[in-house]
Amino acid sequence: MNLWRRLSGRNRTLALTGAGVLVAGGLVTLPVTAAQAATQCSVTYTTSDWPGGFTGTVTIRNIGDALSSWNLGFTFPNSSQRVVNGWSARWSQSGQNVTAQNESYNGSLASGASTTIGFNGSWSGSNPKPTQFTLNGTVCNGGTPSTSTPPTSTPPTSTPPTSTPPTSTPPTSTPPTTTPPPGQRVDNPYAGVKGYVNPEWKAKAESVSGGSRVSNNPTAVWLDRIAAINGTPNSSSNGAMGVRDHLDAALAQGAGYIQFVIYNLPGRDCSALASNGELGPDELPRYKAEYIDPIAAIQGDSKYRNLRIVNIIEIDSLPNLVTNTSGNAGGTVMCDTVKANGAYVNGVGYALAKLGAIGNVYNYIDAAHHGWIGWDSNFGPVADQLKAAAVASGSTVANVQGFIVNTANYSALKEPYVKITDTVNGQTVRQSKWADWNQYLDELSFAQAFRQKLVSIGFDSNIGMLIDTSRNGWGGSARPTGPGPSTSVDAYVDGGRVDRRLHTGNWCNQAGAGLGERPRANPETGIDAYVWVKPPGESDGSSKEIPNTEGKGFDRMCDPTYTGNARNGNNMSGALPDAPISGAWFPAQFQQLMQNAYPPLS
Ligand code: BGC
Repeated sequence: MNLWRRLSGRNRTLALTGAGVLVAGGLVTLPVTAAQAATQCSVTYTTSDWPGGFTGTVTIRNIGDALSSWNLGFTFPNSSQRVVNGWSARWSQSGQNVTAQNESYNGSLASGASTTIGFNGSWSGSNPKPTQFTLNGTVCNGGTPSTSTPPTSTPPTSTPPTSTPPTSTPPTSTPPTTTPPPGQRVDNPYAGVKGYVNPEWKAKAESVSGGSRVSNNPTAVWLDRIAAINGTPNSSSNGAMGVRDHLDAALAQGAGYIQFVIYNLPGRDCSALASNGELGPDELPRYKAEYIDPIAAIQGDSKYRNLRIVNIIEIDSLPNLVTNTSGNAGGTVMCDTVKANGAYVNGVGYALAKLGAIGNVYNYIDAAHHGWIGWDSNFGPVADQLKAAAVASGSTVANVQGFIVNTANYSALKEPYVKITDTVNGQTVRQSKWADWNQYLDELSFAQAFRQKLVSIGFDSNIGMLIDTSRNGWGGSARPTGPGPSTSVDAYVDGGRVDRRLHTGNWCNQAGAGLGERPRANPETGIDAYVWVKPPGESDGSSKEIPNTEGKGFDRMCDPTYTGNARNGNNMSGALPDAPISGAWFPAQFQQLMQNAYPPLS
């Protein structure tokens, strides 16, 4: 059994720096008549600006009667100002007039309640704030600027994000203590230093109610297309900040490490559709010259020599060559093609060699997850495939500092109530439908064992593993609190497992998932860190076909009505409805992830 998985996601946008706060709050008192309920409102409009782009965060406070739906309106003062993409509301713009209509999940606003929505915008010349807002046609214009939220600064008109320190990113851990001399790597780049908080993700997280409880966690920056190197204000999954902007912002934050995802191989995502990329299977030369080389040139700038730059290398790619080529159930033509032409192996080898030549860069190759390669038939062959890539294109294993598992997946970190060695009525847990002869039930045990396997075939004995815990918390009311009944092995496993998926092959926007362990270094033996590589709240793929210009396909594994295929045991997909394309902000998912966080959020 192999598997699958694919990820999705998307990103966000936006950027930080110089937050200009404009409060157009206040209220207007309307006569209340029997026929017309009173709408009264106050609105706070905040922007984070950078040259040419900005993120707007709008908080609507209902100070009138309860509402079951709402429609916000405002007018941009300049004709250059545009809403590029938004979240938590259905945004539209006509001329300079902007409207935001509630989503199904935030239409009801009790008296006194607030909701926050947001968007990424573009501008030229200047980016003034709207001076008046309406809610359901009624002006929210008390006209008195709030005294409790003074403007913190004026938006920079020509200062790149690099020069202004982030406004509200308190360190989540201790600042760097021991910076090695340039070129000398430490064993674990995560140890003893704080991680870079991506302001573009942070703003999105804070646009959802309660998001500020987790928005100061470090998440990875996905370089999911060539244009992302310089910033992609128009993509639905990336923001205007490019590699240099993020590195500069990391310096300004006093961060010790920053994480990038290298994710643009020719024929990307060969076994699925949701995250297909821009390069065709034969475009290895472009991958090298237009993608890896420019990234290496920036990361190698001596200005950044004291930052530990972590590169997560090419999610899902090498495992796909083993399990999703012909001869496997569900093997694809694209996986056969990129295996035959060497695009993945040579691309990964080239990336490792080029980026690994920079003394303060740390490369971690993606190694899937237990529900994909935890079977004996996949475990050794995938390890060998990783080794083959690590020594391709002039690379050596010395360019690999470790591996990451569970990237953008949902496999539980630990299964506290079921052990793979347990037996019920003479049957082992391995024989249950859930395990289906897998050797592992969770990511921690799998990561530790896979590390040993990798060392045994020639990787450095100091390699460390990362586990993406961004969405594998499985808390909330459905979380079991003890073992399942011993009536049958299936009842025992299904009643006791915290991973509540329908099948371990399900990978898209899983209903019921929660945020997992918050990022931290050295959590367990052999594990360099728990990390949030998939930024929580970024979709894994659209739940129905959404035409787009970003190369993203529609994968039925993201459709909640899909009844499955051989790769997920013909189970339902378990995906949430109404999801946007991979990488795009999916606030309803983010809300659920917070609700089901484990450890829980306070
Ligand atoms: C998407 C990328 C996105 C990433 C992180 C991937 O699935 O294809 O566009 O940047 O997820 O959300």
